[in-house]
Amino acid sequence: MRILVTGGAGYVGSVTVERLLAAGHGVIVVDDLSTGHRAAVPPEATYVDLRYGDVHAMTRAFVEERVDAVLHCGAKSIVPESVADPALYYHENVIGGIGLLDAMVAAGVRRLVLSSTAAVYGLPDIVPIPEDAPLRPINPYGATKASLESAIRWYGVAYGIRSVRLRYFNVAGASDRNGEMHDPESHLIPLVLAALEGGRPVTIFGDDYPTPDGTCIRDYIHVLDLADAHLAALEATAPEDARTGPPDGSEPVALNLGTSDGYSVRAVLAAAERVTGTPVPHRVGPRRAGDPPVLVADARLAGAVLGWRAMRTDLDAIVGSAWEWRRRHPDGYRV
Ligand code: UDP
Repeated sequence: MRILVTGGAGYVGSVTVERLLAAGHGVIVVDDLSTGHRAAVPPEATYVDLRYGDVHAMTRAFVEERVDAVLHCGAKSIVPESVADPALYYHENVIGGIGLLDAMVAAGVRRLVLSSTAAVYGLPDIVPIPEDAPLRPINPYGATKASLESAIRWYGVAYGIRSVRLRYFNVAGASDRNGEMHDPESHLIPLVLAALEGGRPVTIFGDDYPTPDGTCIRDYIHVLDLADAHLAALEATAPEDARTGPPDGSEPVALNLGTSDGYSVRAVLAAAERVTGTPVPHRVGPRRAGDPPVLVADARLAGAVLGWRAMRTDLDAIVGSAWEWRRRHPDGYRV
């Protein structure tokens, strides 16, 4: 199959591109490099410097590249940035996302997998969180992803786009080739590793939560497991595949992707200390606005629908793979 990957020069996108290529698919990466890295795109993939929201250019690209399916990983995805600049998030994630859908309709591309997020759930009533939990996002990032999810659902009903929406929990780790490198960085594991490399000490955002050690609990999933799930989801959007609903796209699927294990912030620091043999410089600060105390996936539906489950669930191994990547790429993607 020929798969167009938006955001294919980003963290999750680039690792997934590697997996799709390894499975024998043709890959076209669309990325404007606003946050992605050109060097993250393997040479076997076709790279196109485009904005995914540009309807006319994308329609042309779909036709010229004979695209069968789309993996939409491109998005703005930093929670605090979304709170400070919601306009950016609505323009990029919602308006841009609708442009992509319009181009798919215009070009007759009817298979889609969306990178979505656990941030669509907000503060959950039930943990582990099932997919039918209410969507009550508490920041613009989650709200824009929920909006796009809803648009995809109705585009599916009306225009026959078969889709799977994948709601990621906390992605971490690296492949041999690609890892996490954001600027600025806001995620816990890269910040912990940067602190170990002599960067700024980590601030633990609150240790007075109602959890066993007082720090927030998250479900950390290895990016390679996520890549496997994307491959399975893309293959499951084939028209004759009943796993993703009726052929006309009228009942699209949303799936949580996580390990269903939760680890606290302190547990992550302890894992990094075990992996590196070095104490993590840190201090305890106030809570960060909008942080739910516990976010853990109920990922059973992904198992039932895709036959997928996270295999690389050991926290030390996840942190270790991120550390290993940083050791081998001390300058990140800078050349
Ligand atoms: N966190 C922290 N210090 C940091 C960054 C994150 O204590 O410098 C905490 C954060 O409050 C959350 C967890 O680590 O409980 C994971 O945060 P991250 O930003 O990596 O992902 P999120 O859960 O927000 O998607």
